[in-house]
Amino acid sequence: MLTTPQAIDGVLEDLRALLGENGLLHEEADRARYEAGWRYGRGRALAVARPKTPSSVAAVLELCHRAGVRVQPMGANTGLVGASNPDASGEQLVLSLERLSSTIDVDPIGRTVLVDAGVTLSQLNQALEPHGLFFPIDLGADPQIGGMIATNTGGTRLLRYGAVREHVLGLEVALADGRLWTDLSPLRKDNRGLDLKQLFLGTSGTLGIVTRAVLSLAPLPKQTTTAWVALQSGEGALELLAHLERGVGETLSAFEVLSRNAFEATLRHGAGLTNPFGELSPEVAALIELSTPMGPQQMDLESVMLTSLEVFMTEREDLVLDVVPLKPQAAWHLRHQVSESLRHEGHVLALDVSVPRSQIARFTRDVREDLARHFPQVRMCDFGHWGDGGTHLNLVWDPAEVDQPRALTEELQTRIYGSSFRDYGGSFSAEHGVGPHNQDHYETLSSELLLSTCRALKEHFDPARRLGNVRLEGSSTAG
Ligand SMILES: Cc1cc2nc3c(=O)[nH]c(=O)nc-3n(C[C@H](O)[C@H](O)[C@H](O)COP(=O)(O)OP(=O)(O)OC[C@H]3O[C@@H](n4cnc5c(N)ncnc54)[C@H](O)[C@@H]3O)c2cc1C
Repeated sequence: MLTTPQAIDGVLEDLRALLGENGLLHEEADRARYEAGWRYGRGRALAVARPKTPSSVAAVLELCHRAGVRVQPMGANTGLVGASNPDASGEQLVLSLERLSSTIDVDPIGRTVLVDAGVTLSQLNQALEPHGLFFPIDLGADPQIGGMIATNTGGTRLLRYGAVREHVLGLEVALADGRLWTDLSPLRKDNRGLDLKQLFLGTSGTLGIVTRAVLSLAPLPKQTTTAWVALQSGEGALELLAHLERGVGETLSAFEVLSRNAFEATLRHGAGLTNPFGELSPEVAALIELSTPMGPQQMDLESVMLTSLEVFMTEREDLVLDVVPLKPQAAWHLRHQVSESLRHEGHVLALDVSVPRSQIARFTRDVREDLARHFPQVRMCDFGHWGDGGTHLNLVWDPAEVDQPRALTEELQTRIYGSSFRDYGGSFSAEHGVGPHNQDHYETLSSELLLSTCRALKEHFDPARRLGNVRLEGSSTAG
């Protein structure tokens, strides 16, 4: 810890010498955008370091290691659990990867790319398009590749392509003491015992800072077709999902669900939206997407979707209220505006939960009924990736009606995380990872073996506990 103003000035001077004038931001106004998260997380940074190369990331870490400065890694700052922002101490150096973004080296035959950690998802996909390839993780934000690796991002197409973990072949990581570990192999098959890179995936930068990666890519779809389907119930949505998987197989690339509350709130606040179902506001609205790298000469994808939906409507006419095929851009426009729209409805407590897929309709109904009985001031606006058992239980209330929001937040988190875990064998963090927003619950709901393994890993990679504000080893052991 830096104790004197002279020591602080000394470190800042060394960092400036290392990174150049633009590489270090120290003024309050310059720091502001790094100090608050998209939804949670707010603190004060010592300064913001913005190295441009892997070796300068390592050099910053070495300097901080020697000076005893804690470091907060930051990607695009779109994380949803407050894990990318500094704490309130004013002693953490934010290490932003935003300028480490010059390398995008595509191997079209290998179907891989070597990419810098600070490249954003949209920049990467733009560079891949001419090669007929893409990085198939889709979400309503534009994160950096390093941040996606650190959080093992899921997103709307996990059903078809898996999470980020499935696509990382090689990795380079700067360690807390300034060493740079490089294993940028593009091998798809490599079975030599422990897969070291996996330790840095989904561990929120607590064991090291990702500087470069080799990613496996997917062929860019030549056809994509989408429809919104209005359904009587959550169970009906699951029946439709199972029917589509049996009928259209691999072409099913997304199956997203909005509850009535989430659907109506999005239509109220979203820009340029109209209700695809006209006047109807269904209990459940599902967005389905089919896509394929085959061209229309080989497969008429729209007919495949419509035929499959027609069969379902004939067999289960009790379940479907309406089917509206829409161009993909229009269909996704509605889906991608849900999170932002809910912010206009009041205070939002966002819980990102998963349960076994077959249980998700029962689980969400149980939570909704429980809330109506015990917390009438709270409205559940749930939506999410039902195709892979994930749901965002966004709980909204009017701040004027709640005297003690912290106590209410704590009570709701404990109740819902606990129920998803104990009653359904689910997870309190389906895809957003661990951060200050859910740290306490992580500790309560994790096994002692998991916590002690994390403790041993932290001791190995970062014994002085200087990296990040997430405590996968448990906060009682924090240094
Ligand atoms: C509108 C919206 C929609 C979203 N939808 C989804 C979704 O569908 N699925 C989903 O999974 N997430 C979703 N997210 C969450 C978020 O986009 C992901 O968690 C994302 O991958 C975070 O990447 P980032 O670059 O913004 O990382 P940041 O938010 O900057 O950081 C996240 C964590 O990673 C660490 N970190 C960042 N960069 C590095 C690095 N190079 N090395 C080591 N550690 C690092 C940080 O310290 C922090 O712990 C959404 C967010 C928004 C705002």
